[in-house]
Amino acid sequence: MKLRRLSSLADAESGEAGLGNGSLALAGGTEVVPLLRDGLLAADTLVDVRGVLPREITPYDGGVRIGAGTTLTELEHADTAARVPDALREACRLSASPQIRNMGTIAGNLLQATRCWYWRLGHDCWLAGGEKCLARDGRSDEHAVFGNSRCASAHPSDPAAALLALGATVRTSRRDLPIADLYRLPTDDDRTVTALEPGELILEIDVPRPAASTYLKAMDRKRYAFALVGVAAVRSGESDEVGEDVRVALAGVAPVPWLVESHNGDAVGFGDATPLPGSAYKIELAQALIRRAKDAISETV
Ligand SMILES: Cc1cc2nc3c(=O)[nH]c(=O)nc-3n(C[C@H](O)[C@H](O)[C@H](O)COP(=O)(O)OP(=O)(O)OC[C@H]3O[C@@H](n4cnc5c(N)ncnc54)[C@H](O)[C@@H]3O)c2cc1C
Ligand code: SF4
Repeated sequence: MKLRRLSSLADAESGEAGLGNGSLALAGGTEVVPLLRDGLLAADTLVDVRGVLPREITPYDGGVRIGAGTTLTELEHADTAARVPDALREACRLSASPQIRNMGTIAGNLLQATRCWYWRLGHDCWLAGGEKCLARDGRSDEHAVFGNSRCASAHPSDPAAALLALGATVRTSRRDLPIADLYRLPTDDDRTVTALEPGELILEIDVPRPAASTYLKAMDRKRYAFALVGVAAVRSGESDEVGEDVRVALAGVAPVPWLVESHNGDAVGFGDATPLPGSAYKIELAQALIRRAKDAISETV
């Protein structure tokens, strides 16, 4: 396998030598390297994009622009002048270990693959191109409760749920994409979970400034674990009602970050959940965390 370092962003799109022709972007490498090692990803060439990705946190009127190469540590420790919303800073702080946060970029985090152990161990499950989802008849306690008719993997990114609730927009090398459109449930025709095209690079993320926001995370141990359920709640005005000024998004409950539906100010949609036998507990957990998160961002606190 070859390693190529980009000297300019223009090189990323330059035909044969560019990204997307059997090549793969490498940022912090905390996800790419283990997946290549385990044979879950294949590439002729690794294209190191770290030197050309924007890596600043720049406040603007009404929000903050985050370079795709910014690390989770840099977001976690951004000073108040940088105006990174609390939900995003907290989601970064609660992600992974300090070593991984030092290397891992925000773009790489958004594009990480599922942690489903059947897929990670190389089983021929539906997501890997096989016939069926092995979690349905196997262990399913870390799996999804929504959107899981084909694949029941639980989206692992804490920052993605925060950015979804915050209504962020991703700027790529080809277009602007609301974060809600970056992700898609996999189908029989396309088993990927993002809308990015081959060779398309995330360059920046624009995050509107909320009135208040928070991120809460339930884990099976106190640190360094993926979310059983993560809840991001964001208030953009004076109302404390979900669906009015409050948006809530979840990690760990669906194959993609999940926006919670609302009715008359309450979080709803849990009646439509389709948990596997092991994952039903996540519904109660999510509801309890949503209540706490709403209280934490309430105008009246
Ligand atoms: C042990 C462990 C625990 C973890 N725990 C958590 C956790 O609790 N919560 C959580 O949210 N995350 C967690 N993570 C995920 C971690 O945050 C990511 O691995 C990291 O952020 C990925 O960033 P990276 O720069 O290393 O990505 P890379 O490994 O370099 O890349 C990841 C993917 O993104 C692509 N890519 C990278 N940059 C770009 C770009 N700019 N444009 C287009 N494609 C790009 C790569 O081609 C690759 O497909 C954990 C990871 C590990 C290994
Ligand atoms: S949840 Fe998805 S990744 Fe896991 S076994 Fe089922 S199809 Fe495969």
